[in-house]
Amino acid sequence: MGRRPGPRGPRIAPILIPRPVPPQSARLRLRLTAAAETAVRSGHPWVYSDKIREQNRAGLAGELAVIYDRNDRFLAIGLFDPHSPLVVRILHRGNPVTLTPEWWRDRFKAAFDRRSPHFGPETNGFRLINGESDGFPGLVLDRYAGCLVLKLYTPSWIPCLDPGPNSPATLGGLRIIPLLQELLAPDRVVLRVSRNLSPFQAQLPCTDGANLLGHDSAPSVIFLEDGLRFESDVVQGQKTGFFLDQRDNRRRIGSLAGGGDVLNVFSFSGGFSVHAARGGARSVTDLDISPHALASARRNFDLNRNLPTVARASHHQVQADAFEWLARAPREAFDTVILDPPSMAKRESERAGAIQAYHRLTRLGLDRVRNGGLLLAASCSAHVSESEFYDAVRAALRAAGRRWTELETTAHAPDHHASFPEARYLKGFYARIG
Ligand code: SAH
Repeated sequence: MGRRPGPRGPRIAPILIPRPVPPQSARLRLRLTAAAETAVRSGHPWVYSDKIREQNRAGLAGELAVIYDRNDRFLAIGLFDPHSPLVVRILHRGNPVTLTPEWWRDRFKAAFDRRSPHFGPETNGFRLINGESDGFPGLVLDRYAGCLVLKLYTPSWIPCLDPGPNSPATLGGLRIIPLLQELLAPDRVVLRVSRNLSPFQAQLPCTDGANLLGHDSAPSVIFLEDGLRFESDVVQGQKTGFFLDQRDNRRRIGSLAGGGDVLNVFSFSGGFSVHAARGGARSVTDLDISPHALASARRNFDLNRNLPTVARASHHQVQADAFEWLARAPREAFDTVILDPPSMAKRESERAGAIQAYHRLTRLGLDRVRNGGLLLAASCSAHVSESEFYDAVRAALRAAGRRWTELETTAHAPDHHASFPEARYLKGFYARIG
């Protein structure tokens, strides 16, 4: 996401890649600083390179590192990447284990089972594996109907992609595609790789956006979210093609926007808009800078026009820079305004500017909300904390001098569950105005 920060590490220098470690090599053994040891023991999945205190030999990208504590007891194993400042991503901590295909099968099943209580047949687009938080550092797996999209943020998994029976086994014999076939029987698996993997193109079994499994190469896949039909651009779209993390907020807007006029700022493929229309909104206006996003939102509206409320809602689109459009006349007002911008702080140095931008955006959005209306302000900037974001929104609301009531704050949908602070990037703030 560009927009949603995936579980990725900083940029990786161009190098040659994960290869199986020669069997004669001694296991890569590490010891960490006391603070890093404590963090890993308490479940944090990242070790930065300046936290390594001892290392028995140079390690190769993609090999397993074993971390011992200060008393020489096993602490954890992780994926090693000497070319990233995030040098180890923890796979397992606690008692020593031997990675085997069965161990991996259990780990995949645990991630899938975690989702199954949340989704019935009316939602077949959701996240199956959320990186570190599910024990798969730097790996995301999203489902769109019968199509899976596997997105990699670290090169460590590349050797596990080749489904050939004679390819060398790494990471305890993990072969991702046969395992997905066995557990999920997908029609298609698409590979997506984050931009920081471009130096590893030559090692990939196929190009970004191509199929690891299946012959259907259609650029988009139709799936269901709460019974609504949406397309996901699985081949080229941002992230894996759709912002699944906002599902619960879209559902809330669907239940709150009935009868009124809705402005969906940073509308992308119109997810909030279609939910609002089904919920009985009189009119829905998409505002996005990208013509491509607006065209996708039109298609998503059309996919749901068989529903009477969607057919009745009048659908408008504005292609503009959100800040400029909101700040200028004519000052049309709405009953619901949704502000869901792209990440404003992709790095720590951008944090202060992002907080100011959220303040300004809230103020501009608020000016478009009628009395009695609803404002949803969202942030997906990992470098802006919950309290920093909520405080910026509250300060902007106070500064406007209108009456407002805070309704609730929200986070990711449960398929994006987050096991450590850096993974909790999505924040939502609902306010009733006037
Ligand atoms: N709310 C959407 C996701 C938004 S993604 C959903 O639920 O799916 C962010 C969107 O903001 C993208 O579509 C991008 O094209 C758009 N965008 C980025 N900068 C913008 C700007 N300055 N003005 C308007 N839209 C912008």
